[in-house]
Amino acid sequence: MTDVNKIIELLHNPSKEDIVLITKAYTFAKKAHEGTKRFTGEPYFTHAFETAKNLALFGVDSCSVTAGFLHDVLEDGDVNEETLKKEFGEEILFLVDGVTKLGTLKYRGTKRHVESLRKLFIATSHDVRVLIIKLADRLHNIKTLGGHPEKEKRERIALETLEIFVPLVDRLGMGRLKQEMEDYAFPYIYPQKYQTARKLFQQKNKGLSQHVQKFYLALQNKLTESGIKDIKTSYRIKGMYSLYNKLLRYEMDIDKIYDIVAFRVTVPTIEDCYQILGIVHGAWKPLPGRIKDYIAIPKPNGYQSIHSTVFTGDGEIVEIQIRTRQIHREAEYGIASHLAYKEKYLKHSIKQPMTVKKQLGWIQELLQWQKEVSESGIFLKDLKMDFFKFRVFVFTPKGDVIDLPIGATPIDFAYAIHSDIGNHTAEAKINRKMASLKTKLKSGDLVEIITKKKACPTRKWLDYTETNLAYRQIHLYLQKNQGR
Ligand code: MN
Repeated sequence: MTDVNKIIELLHNPSKEDIVLITKAYTFAKKAHEGTKRFTGEPYFTHAFETAKNLALFGVDSCSVTAGFLHDVLEDGDVNEETLKKEFGEEILFLVDGVTKLGTLKYRGTKRHVESLRKLFIATSHDVRVLIIKLADRLHNIKTLGGHPEKEKRERIALETLEIFVPLVDRLGMGRLKQEMEDYAFPYIYPQKYQTARKLFQQKNKGLSQHVQKFYLALQNKLTESGIKDIKTSYRIKGMYSLYNKLLRYEMDIDKIYDIVAFRVTVPTIEDCYQILGIVHGAWKPLPGRIKDYIAIPKPNGYQSIHSTVFTGDGEIVEIQIRTRQIHREAEYGIASHLAYKEKYLKHSIKQPMTVKKQLGWIQELLQWQKEVSESGIFLKDLKMDFFKFRVFVFTPKGDVIDLPIGATPIDFAYAIHSDIGNHTAEAKINRKMASLKTKLKSGDLVEIITKKKACPTRKWLDYTETNLAYRQIHLYLQKNQGR
């Protein structure tokens, strides 16, 4: 079951060195964990193996996969830092050390929520790979949580996953991991809500599954008309946690939720996406007002896709998601897909910038920055993961994290939350003290906006903004209210 070849198969074009390194880590970890068992009763090494496998699936570099194998040898194996450094070098030691340190942060309920998050960010600010390894580790832990003997611990781990890891994963754009974590954690924290969602789903699914099969075939047939080679279709079932939250917004009426099943069409180019949309709408009537073009306007976390909801013609309504292969990879693996891509890009030192047009979002800003750095001849490897340095992470009074560019002010913060809040900002508190609206925010700041009905943007505010979003909104407001 724990065969190293299973992991090597998952790597994209591994070099000889990659394979040697990973095999060495495999053997080393196996020996280090020999004789130790996990809380589930299985050999400890299984956990190291599954963590490394998750990383290979995310598509990150070989150093991260190696560190995945080794991530627990300092704490749970009989290995010291010196040995690790001698065998695997400084970079791997750094990654393993980072993950070990993160492991000491424990979530102790909502009061510590904010503080833990802050520590987490600070601790990982040196290298995003540390965070990604931790996520791979957590994924296996939450998957096997049922084997944990203590109820209290099960609940703590599940809650910590949902409240600390999931928002992070979302911010990193790792869609697939987000759903997995949510759905594994959900039943432990909210067993009754989980049952409610499951029951509603099962009832609905009885009638739905036939329609799904029928529509799926019809869709595949129709799409061959496009003449586009290499169209891939699939469908996914909505995760229970996400379904439950949507049910809450629709008075628990499952018939109002149209994306329980979503059909996915992936094609080579963006032009193809719009062509497919045309074909779909030609064959099935779309629901008015439900076409969402996240390719033209990506979501804040970088998510891209075209969504449309159509009548199947036999009484059902389904959602169709259209995207390119590249976009699909990014939606599933987020920042991790960029790391792998970048790696290849570096190795072959292609002069061209990275395909498709730049998306919005900070991941893109990061890539842009990396490109500039690499062109100026600074050795990229040391710097490339260091992106947290160029954003500030601040907190809302509820403990939500908002990330902004360096130099951002409470005005940027207010607009990042909502344009209505931005347009009625009167005063701001930073770390519970009154502060000027032009204060530059620092990572870890707790920011509170005090709104007043009569407060409104002034021309001066334009100088206090760092984000395009705030600038545009203020500009728009001033235009609308000219001469008042
Ligand atoms: Mn672990």
